[in-house]
Amino acid sequence: MSAVLSMLHELDRIIEQGAARLEVRTVREVSDGKHTFPIYSLCLGNPSRDAPAIGFFGGVHGLERIGTHVLLSFLSSLVERLRWDDELNHQLAEVRFVFMPLVNPAGMSRGTRANANGVDLMRNAPVESRERVAFLVGGQRLSPRLPWYRGPSRSPMEAESEALCEVVRAELLSRPFSVTLDCHSGFGMRDRIWFPHAHTRLPFAHLAEVHALMALFSQTCPDHPYLFEPQSRHYLAHGDLWDFLCARAAHLGRVFLPLTLEMGSWRWVRKSPRQVLSRLGIFNPLPPDRLRRVQRNHLPWLNFLCRAAQTYRDWLPAGEERAQHERTGLASWFGAS
Ligand SMILES: [Zn+2]
Repeated sequence: MSAVLSMLHELDRIIEQGAARLEVRTVREVSDGKHTFPIYSLCLGNPSRDAPAIGFFGGVHGLERIGTHVLLSFLSSLVERLRWDDELNHQLAEVRFVFMPLVNPAGMSRGTRANANGVDLMRNAPVESRERVAFLVGGQRLSPRLPWYRGPSRSPMEAESEALCEVVRAELLSRPFSVTLDCHSGFGMRDRIWFPHAHTRLPFAHLAEVHALMALFSQTCPDHPYLFEPQSRHYLAHGDLWDFLCARAAHLGRVFLPLTLEMGSWRWVRKSPRQVLSRLGIFNPLPPDRLRRVQRNHLPWLNFLCRAAQTYRDWLPAGEERAQHERTGLASWFGAS
């Protein structure tokens, strides 16, 4: 069975198992030229617009299968725990969980980063950087045959991008507080947590909140492996979907913290150098034991985010405390003194 079909098969199994509690929607259907695939959203927990939410997204880039693997194993364990774990059920009375574990199934089926139209979804939003973006990597409109293609100018977003934005608007931006984690792989040796912006080096409006969240996690799990950074520290890009949604959240006056998990895949390549010969091997841990270890290693972070979203009123900084987080964030990430 192909990778995308086995993932959709696993997703169907989870949907069946969680049928009583999961709210499942086929947000769009997309084709790879041969088959049609659903883009699912799965929600559970408190549906009230007053409740905070946590959203998990994966498979935006079709080559980066590990993000979908991590989310499917997390979702599967949540659904299993629904039957007996009172603590989880109590948590779900206070918070909304949102999952889109496979945003780009056509790209995954074709074994490409882009979707079936050759469009890189993370360059596809109507966001223009006014600063100098990285050549090609920053997004280009020259050709869908080159990577990082943004799509034709003045055309609507791709179906996958629209599906993601629709779910974020309906399930996350409709609430006073939300966090998202978009799972990617392929960048560097370390696991990184990126926060906005991608289109400008200017600091994110919720830098203080991101810093407070990071500090809370570092106190809870002092040995965690992650490097927290603004994405703009590495490269600037046009068309980032999360930057686009941040602008929407600011307009609505919501606290929305979109984070990206970039799993450092070069480490996996170093441990199995032959992986470099395979395009998938550059983006994914190939041996099954290593795949399971990667899935397991991120669980504390995923569980922490669920808990932090639930209890945001207890740790979200205000007044002088918020100003202090902002100053520390500016000093450590933007070189401000
Ligand atoms: Zn990616």
